[in-house]
Amino acid sequence: MAAETHLFPCLKDNYGVLLHDPANGSTAAIDAPEAAPVEEALRVKNWRLTDILVTHHHGDHTGGIAELKARHACRVIAPRREAARIPGVDVTVREGDFVTIGTLVGRVLETPGHTAGHISYWFKSEKLVFVGDTLFSVGCGRLLEGTADVMWQSLLNLRNLTMDTEIYCGHEYTAANIRFARTIEPNNAALAARDAQVKQQIAKGEPTIPVTIGEEKKANPFLRADVPEVAADIGMVGKQPAQVFAEIRARKNKF
Ligand SMILES: [Zn+2]
Repeated sequence: MAAETHLFPCLKDNYGVLLHDPANGSTAAIDAPEAAPVEEALRVKNWRLTDILVTHHHGDHTGGIAELKARHACRVIAPRREAARIPGVDVTVREGDFVTIGTLVGRVLETPGHTAGHISYWFKSEKLVFVGDTLFSVGCGRLLEGTADVMWQSLLNLRNLTMDTEIYCGHEYTAANIRFARTIEPNNAALAARDAQVKQQIAKGEPTIPVTIGEEKKANPFLRADVPEVAADIGMVGKQPAQVFAEIRARKNKF
């Protein structure tokens, strides 16, 4: 039986997501921005919380852990490098480790840059990746604890996943990201198409995620810093991709 996911809003613009294994009933929350929406999502789906998979230490991803763990006695899995800053951690993981949610097997990818120990969870057989605040649709996380070189490598590692892998990220930032991206790549037809799609999704009150790696490769300027046309668009022909990435990230910070 295929894995099921359930996406729901938390806080101001965060997403919570549940990953459910219908084979044995296990359910993981990927991050826990706050407890109440996670509880409501579990109630709506009639699922039992067994695990919390934490991507990074920020409070808007960990604020609900203590309350959820007290109620469900669930297992909390977190990045080893940030475990001391995350409440209730039972298991720490690093690059290459595997996590099992019932019969579902996820691999830990270290994706530092937004935070120094940020990790993503890749469920290869399910074609799912949970990327926290490393990658957003048409955007990427701020470089709060890492250099542009480090973040660019993290984004390349995610970009290398198969094209049909579905990305679940931590925030609904897509519309604002597109407004910025169009200043970088005004002639990118895939980006214009994504803009039209996202306007429709938002008008209908729908989330703009998940989105596939293949779609993001065509529309997300932060994944396209090694595309010659992008370097040309911002006057950086011949520069290293990490430098182009750094310039795009710097412009976004000022946008
Ligand atoms: Zn964060």
